[in-house]
Amino acid sequence: MGSESNMVHSPMLTYASMLSLLTLCPPFVILLWYTMVHADGSVLQSFDYLRQHGLQGFIDIWPKPTATAWKIIACYAAFEAALQLWLPGKKVEGPISPSGNRPVYKANGVAAYAVTLITYLGLWWFGIFNPTIVYDHLGEIFSALIFGSFIFCIFLYVKGLVAPSSTDSGSSGNMIIDFYWGMELYPRIGKNFDIKVFTNCRFGMMSWAVLAVTYCIKQYETYGRVSDSMLTNMILMLVYVTKFFWWEAGYWNTMDIAHDRAGFYICWGCLVWVPSVYTSPGMYLVNHPVNLGVQLALYILVAGILCIYINYDCDRQRQEFRRTNGKALVWGKAPSKIHASYTTTTGETKSSLLLTSGWWGLSRHFHYVPEILAAFFWTLPALFNHFLPYFYVVFLTILLFDRAKRDDDRCRSKYGKYWKLYCEKVPYRIIPGFGV
Ligand code: NDP
Repeated sequence: MGSESNMVHSPMLTYASMLSLLTLCPPFVILLWYTMVHADGSVLQSFDYLRQHGLQGFIDIWPKPTATAWKIIACYAAFEAALQLWLPGKKVEGPISPSGNRPVYKANGVAAYAVTLITYLGLWWFGIFNPTIVYDHLGEIFSALIFGSFIFCIFLYVKGLVAPSSTDSGSSGNMIIDFYWGMELYPRIGKNFDIKVFTNCRFGMMSWAVLAVTYCIKQYETYGRVSDSMLTNMILMLVYVTKFFWWEAGYWNTMDIAHDRAGFYICWGCLVWVPSVYTSPGMYLVNHPVNLGVQLALYILVAGILCIYINYDCDRQRQEFRRTNGKALVWGKAPSKIHASYTTTTGETKSSLLLTSGWWGLSRHFHYVPEILAAFFWTLPALFNHFLPYFYVVFLTILLFDRAKRDDDRCRSKYGKYWKLYCEKVPYRIIPGFGV
């Protein structure tokens, strides 16, 4: 089933995306860091440097993964793994997998998030560890993450091959595609340590909050104050990550966890791309303490929080709808819905509900609109002197438009005529009124 369920794009497109991810993304991460930290955030300045110094110049700026970088990563990863394993939390069941399994998780994300931030700030406050060290070694850390997570993905591939944790695993018959899209849906170490929860949530998403705080502290220690632009950016990113952990058990029902297997595509993204690219607007602001003024800062803050709230409410609405078997009110009214049925890979027939009112009646992936706008608002404090801080917004827009297509294709093959009915009732894919 691997090849069919994972290759919703044509094989050619899969190869092209795989090749570009393998060859372009690692150098991009390093160039992004270099430009933000050493070239004033100016793409032109970095481009000039590369034109003058060529490939050797690029090799020169690529930081070697130092012992300090490995130590920071190892301590952080071990700390997060320990919190994931030992902090108490309610047992939560994930959605039924394509093979008919129902994985069980421990919902202790909010506790892990709170303990992480309090510990990090405590270490700084009591002079035990200064977060500026992380910023000062950021290039080396990204470099170590690039190599380390590649090796980690090989481990995932081999584990999927020789010791899969559940029946939701299997090969497409093509080694490269298996490495890229993953072999296992729910790889675990032992019974309880879920690898995807670790990579996606506790390492990736957590690093976003930790780095947002790091950038703020670095600016404070460099300039003796924190600019309102940095504060606005940090608060919005923290609100977003707080929302994420608040809703973490809901995340376990989404495509990332329920459909995408643990391969290079998703794991490398969470281990390297999230800490580097997702946090990049804050990375830029460290050396650009833009002053927005209280009024503008507040406007941006309110607009950003509103978008994060709407995005949260879309996810919540869908989940409540499914949890209550279509009984929860949607915008104060009984929801309109489609009773769909589908067949699992083991041949069982199951039923499911598709919500066709509320946010999910505006378009089939309306939740991506506030997601993209929120990212725009936490980047806006950088103003418009340079393009690079906006890279994440552009990237996210492409990612989510592609994701909407992938999800539509997957749902069409899962639900068949019921999905067709949904598309007739809700014709727009993302933006209400635009494109079907
Ligand atoms: P979701 O998994 O939340 O939604 C898609 C799934 O929901 C479908 O696969 C289908 O699954 C089910 N579904 C689709 N339509 C309906 C409907 N009308 N009623 C009920 N169920 C439906 O999507 P995502 O994982 O893409 O998004 C989750 C959150 O993560 C969003 O807030 C998104 O913005 C965010 N996100 C952020 C990213 C980032 O990089 N910043 C990247 C991706 C997502 P089923 O098989 O169960 O029917």
